This record gives sequence, C-alpha cells and structure tokens, in this order.
Amino acid sequence: LFNRTQPQPRGGVLTIAGSDSGGGAGIQADLKTITLLGSYGASAITALTAQNTRGVTGIHPSPPAFLAEQIDAVLSDIPIDVVKIGMLCSPENAEIVADKLTAYEMRIVVLDPVMSAKGGVALLEDEALSVLKKRLVPASYLVTPNIPEAEALTGLTITDSAGMELAARALHLMGARHVLVKGGHLTEGVVTDILFDGSGFTRFSAPRVLTRNTHGTGCTLASAIASYLAQGEPLPSAILRAKLFVTRAIKYSQPLGKGHGPVNHFL
Ligand code: PLP
Repeated sequence: LFNRTQPQPRGGVLTIAGSDSGGGAGIQADLKTITLLGSYGASAITALTAQNTRGVTGIHPSPPAFLAEQIDAVLSDIPIDVVKIGMLCSPENAEIVADKLTAYEMRIVVLDPVMSAKGGVALLEDEALSVLKKRLVPASYLVTPNIPEAEALTGLTITDSAGMELAARALHLMGARHVLVKGGHLTEGVVTDILFDGSGFTRFSAPRVLTRNTHGTGCTLASAIASYLAQGEPLPSAILRAKLFVTRAIKYSQPLGKGHGPVNHFL
C-alpha cells in the first residue's frame, strides 16, 4: 500500500491568491499547476470569489488578520522555496502580504499583479495599486504583468514591443529583479512575452491559439514558473517550460459552461 519509491515533490510553493469557485483560475489553478509540475503547493487565501465561466458574481475578502494567520501557519512550519502572489483584493491584505514577505525574508517571490477578471470585474481595489507599486514590486524576484497591468503600474501606454520593453525597464527601476511583460493583449498573430533582467531582454514567442476558453491563463503561467523555480530551475528555462505548459493548456482548453471555459490543467 505504501510505496517507498513514490516520487516526492521537488520544491515548495506558497500561493497567496483568491479562490475561484469555478475552479479555473486563482488558488485552484495554482494548486493544480504546482502539483502537476512536481512541487508541493500550500495556500493562503486573500478572498473568496463566487464565479463560473460567465463571470464573477461576488467577492468576499479574507479579514487581514486571518490572511496573516494563514501565511504564518504555513511559513512557520512547511518548507517553502517560492511565494507566488495573485489576486490581493484589498490594500490591507496587500500590506499584510508585504509585511510577511519581509518578516520571513522570502527571496523568491513571483508577483502576478492581478487587477481584474476577464469580464472586467475588479479583483484589486484602486487603493491597493500604490501598495503594489511601493512594496510588492520591489520585493519581487519576478513580476508578470500583462499589458493593461503594466500600464497601470507604470503609467505608460503600450502599443507595441518597444512599449513593452520600456514598461519592463520602468518596473525594474521600481525594484523588481526581473520583469516578464506578457504580450497577449497586442493583436499580433504570434504572442511574444518579454523578459528583462536588468541588463538584457529575452523574448518568448508562441503561436496565438484562437479560443474563448482562456480563463486561468495568467495564474497558470505564474504558478508554473514558481513551481519550476522551486525545483532550482534557472529563470529563463523556468519561463520557457511554463510557456510550453500554458500554451498546451490553452490549446486543449475546456469548453465548460456558457462563458469562457478554463485552460486545461494536465500533463
Ligand atoms: N485570481 C482569481 C481569484 C480570479 O478569479 C481571476 C480571474 O477571474 C484571476 C486571478 C485572473 O485570472 P487569469 O489567470 O485568467 O488572468
């Protein structure tokens, strides 16, 4: 019954994010991705959302003290190599997360600066943006904004790859060690994400998959990168492997429900 040769997870990731009752994004996407890619996933939930493929109908933020209690419970006991951050919801919860990253000296932090759901519902209150800029971007080993998020964080307007590079430089100046600006919102046939490491740019391109079922893409990419980093993979190959995982997850995405179905978490 107990097989001693059963493979063990090769790294530990704590995801701090919102719950998606529909199962496609948020904490649910994160834990599926982290597990499938061979790491151990723990979670601290910033907010509950009631949602399905048609959209978000309700948001219930976790009380800040209880978010703190979840993070303390995990980090005081379970070995965690990488912290992945998604939906933060409120400025109070964003402050708590920043405090805990400092208190536990977490060095490898992957920040997905989630701001809104695909249907437009805000997942980050306006007042939390300044906490992201002042405290969480500077604490990040990697920040992974899409174009609207990069625009909100930098104040730039981005219409092409030169604009993406400028935003990446700006976020690096704001304190992020590495920046991956995701190009999916530009209307080109090939989707190119641009990584800036403080000195040079690396491009990651993949063909655009035409589907409406892309729910969970951003969460899945950031979690896949976090899972590979937790196993000691260098950043460029962690991103490359994560992109392959996400591109396949979009290609075989699931037409569930009446709205935007989830990407397909599988190996
Ligand atoms: N986190 C939560 C809890 C969400 O509900 C969503 C989207 O609805 C996201 C993050 C962002 O999702 P995506 O990965 O599609 O950008």
